[in-house]
Amino acid sequence: MTKFVSTRFVSTALIVLFPALVRAQSAPMLWAHVEFLASDSMEGRACPSRSCDLAADYILAQFRAAGLETQVQTTEAVFEVRRGETVVHLKEAQLKTPALYANTKVQLDPDQNILAGKEVILDKTPELEPIYNATGDIFITHIPAGLRNVIGVLKGRDRKLRETYVLVTAHYDHVGLKPDGEGDLVFNGANDNASGVAGLIEIARAIASSATRPRRSLAFIAYFGEERGMVGSRYYAQHPIVPVAQTFAQVNFEQLGRPDDSEGPRVKGATVTGWDRSLVGQTLATAATPFGVRIYKHEKFSEVFFERSDNEALAKLGVPAHTISVAYGFPDYHGLGDEASKLDYTNMAIVTKALRRGVMALANRVTSLTPRAGSPAVSVPKVGSSPASPNPKRSRPSPKSPKS
Ligand SMILES: [Zn+2]
Repeated sequence: MTKFVSTRFVSTALIVLFPALVRAQSAPMLWAHVEFLASDSMEGRACPSRSCDLAADYILAQFRAAGLETQVQTTEAVFEVRRGETVVHLKEAQLKTPALYANTKVQLDPDQNILAGKEVILDKTPELEPIYNATGDIFITHIPAGLRNVIGVLKGRDRKLRETYVLVTAHYDHVGLKPDGEGDLVFNGANDNASGVAGLIEIARAIASSATRPRRSLAFIAYFGEERGMVGSRYYAQHPIVPVAQTFAQVNFEQLGRPDDSEGPRVKGATVTGWDRSLVGQTLATAATPFGVRIYKHEKFSEVFFERSDNEALAKLGVPAHTISVAYGFPDYHGLGDEASKLDYTNMAIVTKALRRGVMALANRVTSLTPRAGSPAVSVPKVGSSPASPNPKRSRPSPKSPKS
C-alpha cells in the first residue's frame, strides 16, 4: 500500500511537473530562434538575398553550437530553358537579376524575347534557337550559385545501422518584402517556417547533448528556396550527401508554432502528410503519447498536402518522407501578420519534445518503415498490410490516433 501510494505520488508529481519542465527547457530557446529569424531586420528571408544568407549563417552557427558535424551544400548555378523535350542550358551571366526560378512558365513577347515577369528577359539569341523550333509551353529553371542547404550530422552508435540516416528537415526561407506600400512591409514568416527551423535546431541540440546516441545516424537539414518551388530540397535530392538507398526516413517540419487552425484549435497535436504511405506517422504517434501529444492523420489533407512540401523530392525517390505540421490553415498564412509574437511557444515546446522522441524512435528502429526500401512512394500499400511489420504490436498506432 505504501509502495502504491508513493508510486502514485511520484507519477502525479511527474504529471504536474512535467509540462513545467518541458516549458522551462525549450520554450525560451524556440522563441529566441523564431524572434531572430522572423524579425523585421531579417526582411522576410527570400532566397536569394542577404537575409537568406543571414538565416543560413545563423542555423549553421546553431548546429555548430549543438556539437553537430556541419557541412554546407552550396548550389552551383543552374540555368535552363525547356520546351517539351528540348532543353537548353544557358550561362548565369545572361540573367539580369539573381532571381530563383523553379520550372516557372514563361511568355514570349512579340519580338520573340523570353519573359519571366519583370525580372528576366532573354533576348532572342542563336543558342535559344532549339527552343523557338520546339512547341508547347516554355519553362525556365534558374538557381543562382551560392545558395545553401545547411546540414548538421550526428553519427549513430550502431556499427552497421549508423551508415543509414534519418533526415530531419525544415525550410528556412520565406517570401521576403512587399514591394510597395506603407507601414509594415515585411513578410516575417514566423510560423512559416521559422517555427520549423526552431524545432529542428532544438531537437538537434537536445539529441546531441543527451547521453545516448540513436542507432542510426541523423542529418539535420535546413533547406533554402521552398517558397520558390521546393528548390532546396529538390537540389538536395539530386545531390544527396547520403546515398538515397541509405536514407531510412525523412521528417520535415512546417508550421509548428500556431495551433489556431482555421478548422479549430490544434493544441498538443501535430499531423503528418501521406500518413498511409509508411509507418513514420504511427511511429511518431506512439513516441508522442507520454507527452499527451496526439500525432494524427488529417483525413482531408493527408494526401492533398503530401507533395506540397520538402518531403516531396525524396518521397519520389522511394524514401519514407513526410511533413509534420501543428496546423495547416492558420490566419496570416503568407501574410504580413505572420509574426513571432503570435506563436504559442508553450505548445510548441511540448510538441517539439514529443517529435524529438519520435525522431529517436525512428533512428532506433531496426525494421523497415515501408514494405520495401526503394518502393515508389505512390505504390506503397496501406500500413495495415505492410509485410515489414511482422509484429503488429510493435508498430500499433497510438490509442488516441484517429486511425485506430
Ligand atoms: Zn510558405
